[in-house]
Amino acid sequence: MSHANISIFVPHRGCPNDCSFCNQRAISGQTVPATPIDVEKAVMTAMEYNIDPKKTEIAFFGGSFTAIEREYMCSLLTAAKHFLDAHNFAGIRVSTRPDCIDNDVLEILKKYGVTAIELGAQSMDDEVLSVNRRGHTAEDVRKASKLIKSYGFELGLQMMTGLYKSDFQKDLQTASEIAKLKPGTVRIYPTVVLKNTHLGKLFEKGEYLAPTAEESVPLCAELLQMFENEGIKVIKLGLHSSETVESDMLGGGYHPAFRELCEGHIYLQKMLKKLGGKDKTCTYLIYVRNKDLSKAKGQQKRNEKALKNQGFSCIIKGKENLERFQIEVDVE
Ligand code: SF4
Repeated sequence: MSHANISIFVPHRGCPNDCSFCNQRAISGQTVPATPIDVEKAVMTAMEYNIDPKKTEIAFFGGSFTAIEREYMCSLLTAAKHFLDAHNFAGIRVSTRPDCIDNDVLEILKKYGVTAIELGAQSMDDEVLSVNRRGHTAEDVRKASKLIKSYGFELGLQMMTGLYKSDFQKDLQTASEIAKLKPGTVRIYPTVVLKNTHLGKLFEKGEYLAPTAEESVPLCAELLQMFENEGIKVIKLGLHSSETVESDMLGGGYHPAFRELCEGHIYLQKMLKKLGGKDKTCTYLIYVRNKDLSKAKGQQKRNEKALKNQGFSCIIKGKENLERFQIEVDVE
């Protein structure tokens, strides 16, 4: 059984900020803050589905967990810790802002059995952070990351692509700065423009052209490979699908299967590289690992069509004992 999270959303509550892209109520799909009873219900419900607690974390996402009122934060942690102690859950995961981390709060999180802390870094470019009203700097991300690691927590960093005033190079640079902080995990979110946000207003006035999902694929595919080459797990690529996001979205990079699009893009680039300079009158058999066959063919067979458009006649097949993104080519 693979690793799982029981996710509990703590929307916007306690967050001192109003980031350009944020409409937490829309993102989490709920308006009422979670209570300790909700934590209990969420865990009990998950346990009915025969999860393996040892491979499951209880995760508080959505707002800025360490910025919520201390008493409320501790009440949620108490409810989660009960399950940690009684059923051996793998740990507790929280997400927060880089400027809401200090020794005091880390001591508290340690005491309640928190194992992983994710920081919304979003960009490592101070101008991009400023115009997107993040209220913190890249240096805050560096400092908080080091402090979190010094306490022995697993560090997670989240970044966004295509933010207002960012571009391909700045996003690549952000990823490279993030990789230097050696997080255990990374989440990459192409910016999605939601109603009732600052970005939404800029978008409607035509002052911000948010990259679409299709436009974000080449960059995000590159970031995925870059992090994986550094041994950093990319645990999320693209905003999770929810009806509220779909109905509140004005534009930007949302696709319900965004990761698959990026992985398909990587396969296409690798196939084209292997085929480069080969005789276009032959038919080629392209082998990929079995479980990636549909990704290699691409959504709605887009990769097969792209190869054909480049003049190549190819049959893509699955094969045992190949690695992720490994490709073998034979003439039929
Ligand atoms: S810090 Fe997080 S919760 Fe707060 S406004 Fe920004 S994105 Fe939203």
